[in-house]
Amino acid sequence: MTHPRLWRRLKTPQRPLFRMPHLVEERHFVELCTRCDACVEACETGVIVRGDGGFPELDFQRAECSFCEACNTACPEPLFLPKSVAPWPYRARLGESCLPLSGIECRSCADACEAQAIRFTPTAGAALPTLTEDCTGCGACLPRCPGQALTLHPKGEAQ
Ligand code: SF4
Ligand code: SF4
Ligand code: SF4
Repeated sequence: MTHPRLWRRLKTPQRPLFRMPHLVEERHFVELCTRCDACVEACETGVIVRGDGGFPELDFQRAECSFCEACNTACPEPLFLPKSVAPWPYRARLGESCLPLSGIECRSCADACEAQAIRFTPTAGAALPTLTEDCTGCGACLPRCPGQALTLHPKGEAQ
């Protein structure tokens, strides 16, 4: 098994890396996580997968995070912050492949969004979506978008 410190030095992320809500900073996480898989097995939606180096990460193409906190409860290590703090800074962002931008009607993302964070504005063509501050970054809309136009980003970079 690769030592966590060595793993951190070797690791050069090629894609956005998402971990569980309410988690400590990444540098503490890779030092303390034992890669026991308890969170992977406890996750009610299946969004947690065993990722690079055996560390748990979230795959939003599989599912969304319901913020059920089962990962937090199952983890035997001091890796999770109090539930009173914000779970994470992620917010969804709409890209240019969004179908209504090409005049094609689509509301698949809004249908998936429990937080009702996607609003549509009527236009002469297709109604255009806008993301509101109510977005929780749950990821439910990502796999539902036929144009693959939705991605998650830290809040300040999301708009
Ligand atoms: S909060 Fe629940 S749904 Fe979200 S990653 Fe943890 S176990 Fe999975
Ligand atoms: S339950 Fe905790 S220690 Fe085990 S893999 Fe998940 S985050 Fe790491
Ligand atoms: S990430 Fe979740 S809350 Fe945000 S727009 Fe998508 S479905 Fe709605």
